[in-house]
Amino acid sequence: MNKNKVYIETYGCQMNLADTEVVMGILNNKGYELTKEIDSADVVLLNTCSVRDNAEQRIHGRLGNIGTLKQKNPNMVIGILGCMAERLRDDLIKKKKMVDLVVGPDEYRRLPELIDTAFAGGKGIGVKLSRTETYEDIEPYREEGLAAWISVMRGCDKFCTYCVVPFTRGRERSSKLTSVVEEVRLLSERGFREVTLLGQNVNSYSDGENDFADLLTACAEVDNNLRIRFMTSHPQDLSDKLLYIISEYSNICNYIHLPVQSGSDRVLKEMNRTYTIEHYLGIIERARKIIPSVTFSTDIIVGFPTETEEEHKMTLDIMAKVRYDGAFMFKYSPRKGTRAFKMEDDIPENVKSRRLTEIIDQQLKIAYEINQELIGTEDIVLVENLSKKSDQFYSGRTDTNKIVILPIGNNVKIGDFVKVKLYKATSATLFGDFIEIVDVYRK
Ligand code: SF4
Repeated sequence: MNKNKVYIETYGCQMNLADTEVVMGILNNKGYELTKEIDSADVVLLNTCSVRDNAEQRIHGRLGNIGTLKQKNPNMVIGILGCMAERLRDDLIKKKKMVDLVVGPDEYRRLPELIDTAFAGGKGIGVKLSRTETYEDIEPYREEGLAAWISVMRGCDKFCTYCVVPFTRGRERSSKLTSVVEEVRLLSERGFREVTLLGQNVNSYSDGENDFADLLTACAEVDNNLRIRFMTSHPQDLSDKLLYIISEYSNICNYIHLPVQSGSDRVLKEMNRTYTIEHYLGIIERARKIIPSVTFSTDIIVGFPTETEEEHKMTLDIMAKVRYDGAFMFKYSPRKGTRAFKMEDDIPENVKSRRLTEIIDQQLKIAYEINQELIGTEDIVLVENLSKKSDQFYSGRTDTNKIVILPIGNNVKIGDFVKVKLYKATSATLFGDFIEIVDVYRK
């Protein structure tokens, strides 16, 4: 019997979603096929995240119920991929008897061989980090769709003191500009409408000849009807050159995800974020001059060790100053192996929770006010799906990454760029009336 059915669950960030497509590309080349039915799978893979403790706890919980499946089908091979595999390594195999495979983000090429080892009754472990691996020669396994993502670089050299990524994904290395542009061309040919260029810190992309602004230019020039996004940026490396490129190309989205993490220079220093609030605000100011309709989202950590009440207020202040359109906000979670782990986690849980609530409440209020100001304006939406709430409506996103709900009808179909007039808004969603279908995309 040919055991080739693979079931894969992906957790965490878009980098992991892109990695899952690479994993399936590698396995597909070896005759494996993807199944959406876990019960019928020969191989079950969990592509995991380690950014916070609760991300790993989820996997431990999930392994619990997958273990029962293995009792029914002892030949089933269970594998852990991604950052948790890299962080915990063979500890996972020792502690979790049902786990047969532990493969880190740089060893996916060895998956077929390691799966064979597991089918033969052994344990497959591949957790070496690489300084060169980019998988750029692997064609990711992508199902038909509208929006795709491409990892243009892997790893991170920033070593923020709270972050596991440099330890789970290794040193920075970038794919060659030509291979990324070729992938964008293939996606355009396949009818995709949007591509997101991914990296832990895309601004430090370099293939030795080209920097990130060069890469973004080359990708934008492939097909001006293909919308281009990118994430994640780092304030230390975001150049004016990049800002001018965004303003110049009508198909590069006016949206920048720029994590600030804290509003206090002292806390930023403890986090090893390598910029000051003054520097950060300088970028925001220049970006808004160069790209007037640019929108920003950010990441915030509350309750970092030694963070005082005053410093928490500084974080609220910077959010009030910048007025982000969106934010990912979390409580500090100590991660073993990081420098901050050596600091006492001295902010009590209830204080962390109260600070997080204050941050979230303020962000929701600001997002609501910003969206109210958009009522009466027009914008272009990429229609992505039927609305989750009603099949009488579509949902889509503007280039500024805002969710818009619009009515079905008017010959609009999923994949169209549609001009709408906004008539209602909440903190998370805009509502628009149909104006026209746009043939040639212009942001
Ligand atoms: S920039 Fe900092 S937070 Fe982001 S992945 Fe790198 S080390 Fe982690």
